[in-house]
Amino acid sequence: MSIYYMPTKVVECENVVLENKELFKAYGDKALIVTGRHSSKINGSLDDVTSVLKDLGVQYKIFDEVVENPPVSNIVEGAKVGEGYDYIIGVGGGSPIDAAKAIGILLANPTEDAYTTLLDTPGLKSVPIIAIPTTGGTGTETTPYAILTDHKNKTKRNFSSRVFPEYALMDVRYFMHMPLEIRRNTCIDALTHLIESYMTTNTTVYSAYVALEGIRLWGTVKETLVGADIPKEAMATFMNASTLAGIAISQTGTSLPHGMGYALTYNNKIAHGKANGLIMKAYLAMCKDTSRVGHIMNALGFDSLEAFGLFIQSLIGTLEMTKEQVKQYSEAMIANAGKLKNHPDKVCLEDIMKIYEDAVEGV
Ligand code: NAP
Ligand code: ZN
Repeated sequence: MSIYYMPTKVVECENVVLENKELFKAYGDKALIVTGRHSSKINGSLDDVTSVLKDLGVQYKIFDEVVENPPVSNIVEGAKVGEGYDYIIGVGGGSPIDAAKAIGILLANPTEDAYTTLLDTPGLKSVPIIAIPTTGGTGTETTPYAILTDHKNKTKRNFSSRVFPEYALMDVRYFMHMPLEIRRNTCIDALTHLIESYMTTNTTVYSAYVALEGIRLWGTVKETLVGADIPKEAMATFMNASTLAGIAISQTGTSLPHGMGYALTYNNKIAHGKANGLIMKAYLAMCKDTSRVGHIMNALGFDSLEAFGLFIQSLIGTLEMTKEQVKQYSEAMIANAGKLKNHPDKVCLEDIMKIYEDAVEGV
């Protein structure tokens, strides 16, 4: 059975917030803005949101303390600031938008035990979320997921509820001043979503169509990741590929590379997109469905998996980790039934270790 469900309304144009201000009136009189510490103040997104809310007479508060890979404690701080607020506007990269979804759960379900509510209680409703992404990126604007740092289990994991934003408001202007490293990491994250979605057990005719088109779009602008500056049209294409990637994984989830990347982010402090990208070539090399891997290479415009690996390596380098870490992270991955079942081939501990080892060795 194939089901396609992605209820978020995606609106894309320049000045998207200013041009669509009426929609900010639909969800109540009090809005909590959830964002990171700096970037939304610099790229214009926060100013656009506050000026629209002022115009409309919507009362607002700003929680601008979201850290990268937010832990539960960060979500609790945000929920305290937003107590009594009707809806949330998440502005920024994946961390602030995921935080917005998680804070939304706590506002709708007040609790003394945020850890259990967020990570171990399925099916809770959130207050409405409007997502305004600024990295291209996680695609969280079109997924029901929020990835939180779980210090109890020393890893990162998806929260236990599903929250699709009401709106995803896409404006390429907010993406234009990302430092090169952040742009590379986040664009590579989008590519890994597209690839994992296309390769996973859960792929459907609908998700595969979306994923392959996202991969094709990504391939048309890939060379712009090499230089420091990026033309607006190319950034808009990455932005589209990222939103398509969100739509694709909203149907299928991710699989081994994301599961393996979480350990690298939690323990080795490697940025999320980079962590997945470092593993991707070695992962594809062990996938048994070589014809699907071939579709991906064709859509990206590479004539071999080696050429793909060399390109990604030229952008983000190779993985560094110790032999003990290879063993320890592989053991954690082999215990992650949720991600393992998304991968179509049966894998054992040695297979996972080989992916890490090959990624360390490089192309
Ligand atoms: P991020 O953690 O949100 O932000 C990374 C850095 O980029 C921060 O320093 C941030 O600054 C900066 N930044 C954001 N937008 C910028 C811009 N336009 N210009 C300059 N700098 C900017 O990065 P991310 O890669 O987008 O998100 C990663 C998180 O999303 C991880 O926790 C990951 O697990 C999660 N994720 C979620 C999903 C999902 O479906 N929910 C999917 C994949 C990944 P500030 O802190 O100052 O804003
Ligand atoms: Zn990701």
